[in-house]
Amino acid sequence: MSASSASREQGPTPSETVRLPETYAGAGPRGFSTDQVHIGQSPESAYGARVNPIYMSAGFVFDDFDQAEARFGGGEEGYSYSRVDNPTTAAVERKLAALEGGTGARLVSSGQAAVHVATSALLQAGDHILASSSIYEGTRALFRITYARFGIAADFVEDPSDLEEWRSKVRPTTKLLFAESIPNPKNDIHDLAAIAQIAHDDAGAPLIVDNTLATPYLCRPIEHGADIVLHSTSKFLVGQGTALGGVIIGSGRFDFSSHREKYPQLSEPVFGEPGLSYIDQFGPFEAYIESVRRHISVAYGTTSSPFNAFLLQQGLETLSMRIQRQTQTAQALAGWLEEHELVESVDYSGLESSPYHRLARKYLPRGQGAVLAFTVRGGRESARALINSVELISRMTHIGDVRTLIINPATTTHGYLSQADRDRFGISDGLIRLSIGLEDAEDLIADLQHALAAVPRSHQAAA
Ligand code: PLP
Repeated sequence: MSASSASREQGPTPSETVRLPETYAGAGPRGFSTDQVHIGQSPESAYGARVNPIYMSAGFVFDDFDQAEARFGGGEEGYSYSRVDNPTTAAVERKLAALEGGTGARLVSSGQAAVHVATSALLQAGDHILASSSIYEGTRALFRITYARFGIAADFVEDPSDLEEWRSKVRPTTKLLFAESIPNPKNDIHDLAAIAQIAHDDAGAPLIVDNTLATPYLCRPIEHGADIVLHSTSKFLVGQGTALGGVIIGSGRFDFSSHREKYPQLSEPVFGEPGLSYIDQFGPFEAYIESVRRHISVAYGTTSSPFNAFLLQQGLETLSMRIQRQTQTAQALAGWLEEHELVESVDYSGLESSPYHRLARKYLPRGQGAVLAFTVRGGRESARALINSVELISRMTHIGDVRTLIINPATTTHGYLSQADRDRFGISDGLIRLSIGLEDAEDLIADLQHALAAVPRSHQAAA
């Protein structure tokens, strides 16, 4: 009996289960759908399993004393403890890095953790963040309220299409610029390439793009100059509304050695003198993502469960098909809603009437996503009647599910803001957000038609 067949019967030995991480690079000019199935994964288990298994183990056995020392000292790559690295999550990280065109990735426990880890890896007290005002409310609150407690300031660009406003708000302490590829719920697409240029030329800082709503199938921000991409994988990437997760992807393009004084986290020895910095160890382009992978995410303990990583892996394999279909249905619904007499306006960049249509065609040529908003005449009471009357569509916060979801942002996701802030951000009382799922478009239209018909005439007249 060969050594390998013997070990298959007895179970894997530690050295057989450990594989050095593969390169992150894509396999060449293959299509997105091929890559989403094949990249980052090989039939590698000791039993020949075709699907990357769930390695639900807190720790991994060392062959001997020397291997333990080498794994801790960084002299040997391999697994030790799942908060640091895990084979199930590592395979998904490779897949996501490749799909986004990046060089490395770190999976974390939620999208909010991804925002925290990605940004705080570049920040310390006294620093400044410059962000679009059209960002997820959890991100805004983190920057505006939580980070303020640690001496980090944030400014928000009121009109993200005004490049002069971006430029004028850059400070010497600005360590990162932050924007989303499809802001939610207003679909006000930004000129990412122009903002990346301001980040590089005016701030000497990286641009971080939250690509949650677009997914790499619709937009790859790195191709437009973004330096770091992140996602709440809880949404379209996992796809079926099961597992929370987040990911940070490094482009490997920002030269941190040109800004050594600005980023002491990367340019000074990690454990003090004498020692090596991340730039010394991994070079100026990989220093950031390696510090995220080896230090920040490990220090915060924002680890992804291997089980959640497995569900994400399953979701990613069907990403392009789901997004194509969900985007087509969103376009059909947006067009139908625009014609409805009770609908005051529709926010969807796929509509020619959208002021963001030109930018959407540039940055989202395959389709403009599956989250849209519309304003029902009659404000809050009409919104209440409509939302209470849907039968097929689920009343839920969350987006990116196979089920279509509906919510009134003014009374939920944006409810904590002052009326003045809601007015500034265009969050009117009658605004309704839809996240389109995989149901048949005709059935969704029928549900909305029935719900709109349930809005009492008195509310419509009050508009
Ligand atoms: N980024 C965006 C654009 C989001 O919509 C969300 C959540 O809705 C997050 C980040 C936070 O993600 P999670 O809920 O997975 O923490």
